[in-house]
Amino acid sequence: MEKYTEKDRVEIYKKVRKTLQQVKEAPVEVTVSKKTRKDIAELNKIEIPPFSKQLKKFKQLPLQSDSFEILQINLGYLCNQVCNHCHVNAGPSRKELMSVKTMKDCLKAIDAGNFHTVDLTGGAPEIHPDFKWFVKELSQRNIKIIVRSNLTILTFHKAYEDLPTFFAAHQVEVIASMPCYTVENVDKQRGEGVFDASIEGLQKLNETGYGRTDSNLKLHLVYNPGGPSLPGDQESLEADYKRMLSANFGIVFNKLYTITNMPISRFLNDLKKSGKLLDYMRLLVDNFNSASVENLMCRNTVSIRWDGTMYDCDFNQMLDLPILGAVKNIENFNELVLEKRNIVVQNHCYGCTAGAGSSCQGALS
Ligand code: SF4
Ligand code: SF4
Repeated sequence: MEKYTEKDRVEIYKKVRKTLQQVKEAPVEVTVSKKTRKDIAELNKIEIPPFSKQLKKFKQLPLQSDSFEILQINLGYLCNQVCNHCHVNAGPSRKELMSVKTMKDCLKAIDAGNFHTVDLTGGAPEIHPDFKWFVKELSQRNIKIIVRSNLTILTFHKAYEDLPTFFAAHQVEVIASMPCYTVENVDKQRGEGVFDASIEGLQKLNETGYGRTDSNLKLHLVYNPGGPSLPGDQESLEADYKRMLSANFGIVFNKLYTITNMPISRFLNDLKKSGKLLDYMRLLVDNFNSASVENLMCRNTVSIRWDGTMYDCDFNQMLDLPILGAVKNIENFNELVLEKRNIVVQNHCYGCTAGAGSSCQGALS
Protein backbone atom coordinates (compact mmCIF):
# COMPACT_ATOMS: atom_id res chain seq x y z
CA MET A 1 0.00 0.00 0.00
CA GLU A 2 1.34 3.50 -0.86
CA LYS A 3 2.10 5.64 2.21
CA TYR A 4 0.69 9.11 2.50
CA THR A 5 3.15 11.17 4.50
CA GLU A 6 4.24 14.57 3.13
CA LYS A 7 7.44 13.13 1.63
CA ASP A 8 5.62 10.17 0.10
CA ARG A 9 2.96 12.47 -1.27
CA VAL A 10 5.63 14.25 -3.32
CA GLU A 11 6.93 10.91 -4.60
CA ILE A 12 3.44 9.75 -5.57
CA TYR A 13 2.80 13.06 -7.34
CA LYS A 14 5.98 12.54 -9.40
CA LYS A 15 4.81 9.03 -10.27
CA VAL A 16 1.37 10.33 -11.33
CA ARG A 17 2.96 13.03 -13.53
CA LYS A 18 5.22 10.40 -15.13
CA THR A 19 2.20 8.17 -15.88
CA LEU A 20 0.30 11.11 -17.42
CA GLN A 21 3.29 11.88 -19.64
CA GLN A 22 3.61 8.24 -20.71
CA VAL A 23 -0.10 8.10 -21.62
CA LYS A 24 0.28 11.31 -23.67
CA GLU A 25 3.17 9.81 -25.60
CA ALA A 26 1.63 6.36 -26.10
CA PRO A 27 -2.08 5.83 -25.29
CA VAL A 28 -2.85 2.46 -23.71
CA GLU A 29 -4.36 -0.39 -25.73
CA VAL A 30 -7.33 -2.28 -24.26
CA THR A 31 -6.49 -5.74 -23.02
CA VAL A 32 -8.58 -8.06 -20.89
CA SER A 33 -6.32 -9.34 -18.18
CA LYS A 34 -6.06 -13.03 -17.48
CA LYS A 35 -6.55 -12.08 -13.84
CA THR A 36 -10.08 -10.80 -14.57
CA ARG A 37 -11.02 -14.14 -16.11
CA LYS A 38 -9.42 -15.93 -13.15
CA ASP A 39 -11.49 -13.87 -10.68
CA ILE A 40 -14.76 -14.86 -12.40
CA ALA A 41 -13.73 -18.53 -12.56
CA GLU A 42 -12.74 -18.42 -8.88
CA LEU A 43 -16.18 -17.16 -7.82
CA ASN A 44 -17.96 -19.70 -10.02
CA LYS A 45 -15.99 -22.55 -8.47
CA ILE A 46 -17.22 -21.90 -4.94
CA GLU A 47 -19.92 -24.19 -3.61
CA ILE A 48 -22.80 -21.76 -3.39
CA PRO A 49 -26.04 -21.59 -5.38
CA PRO A 50 -25.38 -19.61 -8.58
CA PHE A 51 -26.77 -16.07 -8.30
CA SER A 52 -28.94 -16.62 -11.38
CA LYS A 53 -30.63 -19.60 -9.67
CA GLN A 54 -31.34 -17.47 -6.62
CA LEU A 55 -32.99 -14.86 -8.85
CA LYS A 56 -35.01 -17.58 -10.56
CA LYS A 57 -36.23 -18.86 -7.20
CA PHE A 58 -37.65 -15.42 -6.50
CA LYS A 59 -39.03 -15.07 -10.04
CA GLN A 60 -36.58 -12.27 -10.85
CA LEU A 61 -34.71 -13.88 -13.74
CA PRO A 62 -33.90 -12.48 -16.23
CA LEU A 63 -32.94 -9.38 -14.32
CA GLN A 64 -33.90 -6.47 -16.55
CA SER A 65 -33.13 -2.78 -16.64
CA ASP A 66 -36.10 -0.50 -15.88
CA SER A 67 -34.72 2.72 -17.28
CA PHE A 68 -31.39 4.44 -17.77
CA GLU A 69 -31.23 7.47 -15.55
CA ILE A 70 -27.64 7.51 -14.34
CA LEU A 71 -24.58 7.54 -16.57
CA GLN A 72 -21.63 6.48 -14.47
CA ILE A 73 -18.42 7.38 -16.25
CA ASN A 74 -15.13 5.92 -15.13
CA LEU A 75 -12.52 8.42 -16.31
CA GLY A 76 -9.66 5.99 -15.71
CA TYR A 77 -7.82 3.91 -13.18
CA LEU A 78 -5.07 6.41 -12.28
CA CYS A 79 -5.17 7.31 -8.58
CA ASN A 80 -2.97 8.91 -5.93
CA GLN A 81 -3.84 6.09 -3.52
CA VAL A 82 -3.60 2.29 -3.49
CA CYS A 83 -6.31 1.16 -1.06
CA ASN A 84 -6.54 -2.41 0.16
CA HIS A 85 -10.15 -2.93 -0.87
CA CYS A 86 -10.13 -1.05 -4.16
CA HIS A 87 -12.36 -2.88 -6.63
CA VAL A 88 -10.77 -0.91 -9.47
CA ASN A 89 -7.21 -1.95 -8.63
CA ALA A 90 -6.35 1.71 -9.10
CA GLY A 91 -3.00 3.37 -8.40
CA PRO A 92 -0.38 5.93 -9.52
CA SER A 93 0.95 3.73 -12.33
CA ARG A 94 -2.34 2.81 -14.04
CA LYS A 95 -2.31 4.25 -17.55
CA GLU A 96 -5.94 3.68 -18.59
CA LEU A 97 -7.49 7.12 -19.09
CA MET A 98 -10.54 8.20 -21.10
CA SER A 99 -9.77 10.06 -24.34
CA VAL A 100 -11.38 13.40 -25.18
CA LYS A 101 -13.08 11.64 -28.10
CA THR A 102 -14.80 9.20 -25.71
CA MET A 103 -15.72 12.09 -23.38
CA LYS A 104 -17.38 13.76 -26.35
CA ASP A 105 -19.22 10.49 -27.14
CA CYS A 106 -20.53 10.56 -23.55
CA LEU A 107 -21.72 14.16 -24.00
CA LYS A 108 -23.52 13.15 -27.21
CA ALA A 109 -25.22 10.28 -25.38
CA ILE A 110 -26.32 12.68 -22.61
CA ASP A 111 -27.73 15.06 -25.21
CA ALA A 112 -29.60 12.20 -26.91
CA GLY A 113 -30.76 10.27 -23.84
CA ASN A 114 -32.85 10.71 -20.72
CA PHE A 115 -30.11 10.59 -18.11
CA HIS A 116 -30.80 12.85 -15.13
CA THR A 117 -27.44 12.22 -13.42
CA VAL A 118 -23.84 11.78 -14.45
CA ASP A 119 -21.63 10.09 -11.88
CA LEU A 120 -17.88 10.59 -12.40
CA THR A 121 -15.62 7.99 -10.90
CA GLY A 122 -12.15 6.46 -11.32
CA GLY A 123 -9.40 6.02 -9.94
CA ALA A 124 -9.34 9.62 -8.83
CA PRO A 125 -11.46 11.27 -11.56
CA GLU A 126 -10.02 14.70 -10.69
CA ILE A 127 -6.53 13.55 -11.82
CA HIS A 128 -7.70 13.21 -15.41
CA PRO A 129 -6.03 16.08 -17.35
CA ASP A 130 -9.36 17.03 -19.02
CA PHE A 131 -11.51 16.65 -15.89
CA LYS A 132 -12.31 20.35 -15.54
CA TRP A 133 -13.14 20.78 -19.22
CA PHE A 134 -15.50 17.81 -18.99
CA VAL A 135 -17.26 19.09 -15.84
CA LYS A 136 -17.68 22.52 -17.44
CA GLU A 137 -19.28 20.85 -20.49
CA LEU A 138 -21.58 18.81 -18.27
CA SER A 139 -22.60 21.84 -16.22
CA GLN A 140 -23.96 23.46 -19.38
CA ARG A 141 -26.48 20.62 -19.59
CA ASN A 142 -29.52 20.15 -17.40
CA ILE A 143 -28.05 17.22 -15.48
CA LYS A 144 -26.95 16.50 -11.92
CA ILE A 145 -23.16 16.01 -11.65
CA ILE A 146 -21.67 13.71 -9.01
CA VAL A 147 -17.93 13.38 -8.42
CA ARG A 148 -16.67 10.43 -6.37
CA SER A 149 -13.69 11.90 -4.57
CA ASN A 150 -11.14 10.11 -2.41
CA LEU A 151 -10.70 13.42 -0.44
CA THR A 152 -6.89 13.12 -0.30
CA ILE A 153 -6.70 14.51 -3.84
CA LEU A 154 -7.90 17.86 -2.43
CA THR A 155 -4.66 18.28 -0.49
CA PHE A 156 -2.43 16.09 -2.66
CA HIS A 157 -0.72 18.91 -4.56
CA LYS A 158 -1.27 22.61 -5.21
CA ALA A 159 -2.49 21.69 -8.72
CA TYR A 160 -5.69 20.37 -7.09
CA GLU A 161 -6.15 22.95 -4.31
CA ASP A 162 -8.90 24.84 -6.09
CA LEU A 163 -11.11 21.77 -6.56
CA PRO A 164 -13.63 22.61 -3.78
CA THR A 165 -14.34 26.05 -5.28
CA PHE A 166 -14.43 24.54 -8.77
CA PHE A 167 -16.95 21.93 -7.56
CA ALA A 168 -19.06 24.62 -5.92
CA ALA A 169 -19.01 26.85 -9.00
CA HIS A 170 -20.40 24.00 -11.09
CA GLN A 171 -22.89 22.72 -8.48
CA VAL A 172 -21.14 19.35 -8.28
CA GLU A 173 -22.38 16.90 -5.64
CA VAL A 174 -19.45 15.26 -3.84
CA ILE A 175 -19.55 11.64 -2.68
CA ALA A 176 -16.43 10.92 -0.69
CA SER A 177 -14.83 7.73 0.61
CA MET A 178 -14.47 7.70 4.40
CA PRO A 179 -14.61 4.12 5.68
CA CYS A 180 -14.49 5.13 9.37
CA TYR A 181 -14.22 8.07 11.74
CA THR A 182 -11.07 6.70 13.39
CA VAL A 183 -7.51 7.11 12.19
CA GLU A 184 -6.62 3.45 12.84
CA ASN A 185 -9.34 1.97 10.64
CA VAL A 186 -8.96 4.43 7.78
CA ASP A 187 -5.17 4.20 7.61
CA LYS A 188 -5.29 0.40 7.80
CA GLN A 189 -7.60 0.22 4.79
CA ARG A 190 -6.41 3.19 2.73
CA GLY A 191 -2.78 3.84 3.66
CA GLU A 192 -0.77 5.62 6.33
CA GLY A 193 -1.66 9.31 6.64
CA VAL A 194 -4.88 9.00 4.61
CA PHE A 195 -7.15 9.77 7.57
CA ASP A 196 -5.48 13.12 8.32
CA ALA A 197 -5.46 14.10 4.64
CA SER A 198 -9.14 13.12 4.35
CA ILE A 199 -10.09 15.23 7.38
CA GLU A 200 -8.24 18.17 5.84
CA GLY A 201 -10.11 17.58 2.57
CA LEU A 202 -13.48 17.48 4.38
CA GLN A 203 -12.69 20.70 6.24
CA LYS A 204 -11.88 22.41 2.95
CA LEU A 205 -15.20 21.24 1.51
CA ASN A 206 -17.07 22.47 4.60
CA GLU A 207 -15.33 25.87 4.35
CA THR A 208 -16.57 26.08 0.75
CA GLY A 209 -20.13 25.43 1.94
CA TYR A 210 -20.34 21.67 1.32
CA GLY A 211 -22.43 19.58 3.72
CA ARG A 212 -23.82 22.55 5.64
CA THR A 213 -27.51 22.90 6.37
CA ASP A 214 -27.48 26.52 5.18
CA SER A 215 -26.14 25.50 1.76
CA ASN A 216 -27.35 23.46 -1.21
CA LEU A 217 -23.89 21.99 -1.87
CA LYS A 218 -24.20 18.29 -1.04
CA LEU A 219 -21.48 16.23 0.58
CA HIS A 220 -22.12 12.53 1.22
CA LEU A 221 -19.69 10.03 2.76
CA VAL A 222 -19.20 6.37 1.93
CA TYR A 223 -18.59 3.66 4.49
CA ASN A 224 -17.45 0.12 3.76
CA PRO A 225 -16.54 -2.52 6.35
CA GLY A 226 -12.88 -2.99 7.26
CA GLY A 227 -13.11 -6.77 6.74
CA PRO A 228 -15.32 -9.63 5.55
CA SER A 229 -18.54 -8.57 7.27
CA LEU A 230 -21.74 -6.81 6.22
CA PRO A 231 -22.16 -3.08 6.88
CA GLY A 232 -24.13 -2.10 9.98
CA ASP A 233 -27.40 -0.20 9.84
CA GLN A 234 -26.95 2.88 7.61
CA GLU A 235 -28.99 5.26 9.76
CA SER A 236 -27.25 4.37 13.03
CA LEU A 237 -23.82 4.57 11.42
CA GLU A 238 -24.69 7.96 9.94
CA ALA A 239 -25.65 9.22 13.40
CA ASP A 240 -22.33 7.90 14.85
CA TYR A 241 -20.31 9.50 12.05
CA LYS A 242 -22.08 12.84 12.46
CA ARG A 243 -21.53 12.85 16.21
CA MET A 244 -17.86 11.84 16.07
CA LEU A 245 -16.75 13.95 13.09
CA SER A 246 -18.49 16.99 14.46
CA ALA A 247 -17.16 16.59 18.02
CA ASN A 248 -13.57 15.80 16.99
CA PHE A 249 -13.08 17.91 13.87
CA GLY A 250 -16.09 20.21 13.49
CA ILE A 251 -17.00 18.39 10.25
CA VAL A 252 -20.54 18.27 8.86
CA PHE A 253 -21.93 16.29 5.93
CA ASN A 254 -25.31 15.32 4.48
CA LYS A 255 -25.72 11.54 4.21
CA LEU A 256 -23.72 8.40 4.84
CA TYR A 257 -23.91 5.59 2.28
CA THR A 258 -23.02 2.10 3.45
CA ILE A 259 -21.52 -0.15 0.78
CA THR A 260 -20.73 -3.87 0.98
CA ASN A 261 -17.23 -4.95 -0.06
CA MET A 262 -17.54 -6.71 -3.42
CA PRO A 263 -15.71 -10.04 -3.72
CA ILE A 264 -13.64 -8.90 -6.71
CA SER A 265 -10.21 -7.43 -7.38
CA ARG A 266 -8.09 -6.50 -4.32
CA PHE A 267 -10.71 -7.51 -1.77
CA LEU A 268 -11.03 -10.92 -3.45
CA ASN A 269 -7.25 -11.32 -3.20
CA ASP A 270 -7.40 -10.44 0.50
CA LEU A 271 -10.15 -13.01 1.06
CA LYS A 272 -8.16 -15.68 -0.72
CA LYS A 273 -4.97 -14.88 1.13
CA SER A 274 -6.69 -15.00 4.51
CA GLY A 275 -8.64 -18.18 3.64
CA LYS A 276 -11.96 -16.38 4.20
CA LEU A 277 -13.39 -16.44 0.67
CA LEU A 278 -15.82 -19.32 1.19
CA ASP A 279 -17.08 -17.94 4.52
CA TYR A 280 -17.60 -14.48 3.04
CA MET A 281 -19.50 -15.80 0.03
CA ARG A 282 -21.68 -17.90 2.33
CA LEU A 283 -22.34 -14.84 4.45
CA LEU A 284 -23.52 -12.97 1.34
CA VAL A 285 -25.66 -15.91 0.19
CA ASP A 286 -27.19 -16.53 3.62
CA ASN A 287 -28.19 -12.86 3.81
CA PHE A 288 -29.68 -12.69 0.32
CA ASN A 289 -32.47 -10.13 0.46
CA SER A 290 -34.95 -10.47 -2.39
CA ALA A 291 -36.42 -7.03 -1.58
CA SER A 292 -33.14 -5.39 -2.63
CA VAL A 293 -33.42 -6.70 -6.21
CA GLU A 294 -36.02 -4.16 -7.22
CA ASN A 295 -33.62 -1.30 -6.49
CA LEU A 296 -30.35 -2.72 -7.79
CA MET A 297 -28.31 0.06 -9.36
CA CYS A 298 -27.81 -1.88 -12.61
CA ARG A 299 -31.53 -1.37 -13.27
CA ASN A 300 -31.22 2.37 -13.85
CA THR A 301 -27.49 2.90 -14.46
CA VAL A 302 -25.08 2.40 -17.32
CA SER A 303 -21.38 2.30 -16.54
CA ILE A 304 -18.81 3.49 -19.09
CA ARG A 305 -15.22 2.29 -19.10
CA TRP A 306 -12.37 4.65 -20.06
CA ASP A 307 -12.44 3.27 -23.63
CA GLY A 308 -16.21 3.78 -24.00
CA THR A 309 -17.30 0.16 -23.44
CA MET A 310 -20.71 -0.02 -21.73
CA TYR A 311 -21.43 -2.17 -18.66
CA ASP A 312 -24.43 -2.74 -16.39
CA CYS A 313 -22.37 -1.50 -13.42
CA ASP A 314 -18.87 -0.56 -12.30
CA PHE A 315 -18.31 -4.07 -10.87
CA ASN A 316 -19.15 -5.77 -14.17
CA GLN A 317 -16.76 -3.28 -15.73
CA MET A 318 -13.96 -4.53 -13.50
CA LEU A 319 -14.74 -8.12 -14.49
CA ASP A 320 -15.05 -7.11 -18.14
CA LEU A 321 -18.63 -8.37 -18.51
CA PRO A 322 -20.05 -5.84 -21.04
CA ILE A 323 -23.76 -5.23 -21.62
CA LEU A 324 -25.55 -7.81 -23.74
CA GLY A 325 -26.40 -7.00 -27.34
CA ALA A 326 -24.63 -5.93 -30.49
CA VAL A 327 -23.87 -2.33 -29.43
CA LYS A 328 -21.17 -2.27 -26.79
CA ASN A 329 -19.60 1.19 -27.01
CA ILE A 330 -20.97 4.60 -26.04
CA GLU A 331 -19.92 5.93 -29.47
CA ASN A 332 -22.88 3.97 -30.89
CA PHE A 333 -25.24 4.95 -28.05
CA ASN A 334 -28.86 4.36 -28.79
CA GLU A 335 -31.66 4.51 -26.22
CA LEU A 336 -33.39 1.47 -27.71
CA VAL A 337 -30.34 -0.70 -27.12
CA LEU A 338 -30.33 0.05 -23.42
CA GLU A 339 -34.04 -0.15 -22.75
CA LYS A 340 -35.31 -3.34 -21.11
CA ARG A 341 -32.00 -5.08 -21.62
CA ASN A 342 -31.13 -8.26 -19.74
CA ILE A 343 -28.47 -7.58 -17.14
CA VAL A 344 -25.34 -9.74 -16.93
CA VAL A 345 -25.27 -11.40 -13.51
CA GLN A 346 -22.63 -13.61 -11.88
CA ASN A 347 -21.85 -14.70 -8.33
CA HIS A 348 -20.20 -11.37 -7.34
CA CYS A 349 -23.75 -9.91 -7.55
CA TYR A 350 -24.45 -11.43 -4.12
CA GLY A 351 -22.49 -8.42 -2.82
CA CYS A 352 -25.35 -6.14 -3.92
CA THR A 353 -28.21 -8.19 -2.46
CA ALA A 354 -26.92 -9.13 1.01
CA GLY A 355 -28.53 -7.64 4.12
CA ALA A 356 -29.90 -4.17 3.42
CA GLY A 357 -28.51 -4.37 -0.14
CA SER A 358 -25.72 -2.23 -1.53
CA SER A 359 -25.17 0.24 -4.34
CA CYS A 360 -23.16 3.34 -5.18
CA GLN A 361 -25.98 5.24 -3.38
CA GLY A 362 -25.77 3.07 -0.27
CA ALA A 363 -28.29 0.60 1.20
CA LEU A 364 -31.23 -0.49 -0.98
CA SER A 365 -33.93 -1.53 1.45
S1 SF4 B 1 -10.50 2.93 -3.50
FE1 SF4 B 1 -10.62 4.91 -4.54
S2 SF4 B 1 -8.95 6.10 -3.61
FE2 SF4 B 1 -8.55 3.97 -3.14
S3 SF4 B 1 -7.18 3.24 -4.77
FE3 SF4 B 1 -9.29 2.76 -5.39
S4 SF4 B 1 -9.95 4.48 -6.64
FE4 SF4 B 1 -8.13 5.16 -5.48
S1 SF4 C 1 -22.85 -6.48 -9.41
FE1 SF4 C 1 -24.71 -5.57 -8.55
S2 SF4 C 1 -25.16 -3.81 -9.79
FE2 SF4 C 1 -23.72 -5.10 -10.94
S3 SF4 C 1 -24.97 -6.43 -12.22
FE3 SF4 C 1 -24.59 -7.51 -10.33
S4 SF4 C 1 -26.36 -7.01 -9.03
FE4 SF4 C 1 -26.31 -5.52 -10.68
